[in-house]
Amino acid sequence: MTHKIKYCAHCGIRYAFQGSGQGCFHPLNDSNYCPECMAVIRVALDKVPKRVEKRWIPSTVYTKDQILKLMDESDAELDRLHEERSAVTTNRDDLSREA
Ligand SMILES: [Zn+2]
Repeated sequence: MTHKIKYCAHCGIRYAFQGSGQGCFHPLNDSNYCPECMAVIRVALDKVPKRVEKRWIPSTVYTKDQILKLMDESDAELDRLHEERSAVTTNRDDLSREA
């Protein structure tokens, strides 16, 4: 278990970030923001729907080639979502020019 003293990127207070060990995946344990600021960020992000679902892929079940193939498929999906988002932004830009 490792801890590092950090300064919050928002409020500037000093806090202990846990880099490894039990509890390091706690949703308020963040390397950039203190737990209080991270709680506010989490509440705000809860209102934004997730577009990509993270999946745990055990390396003991899949071969390296299968994992690389899954990663390629995931990258292609992310590229598709990025293009879709860019198209929406472009359409909004077109609308604002027409107004
Ligand atoms: Zn803070």
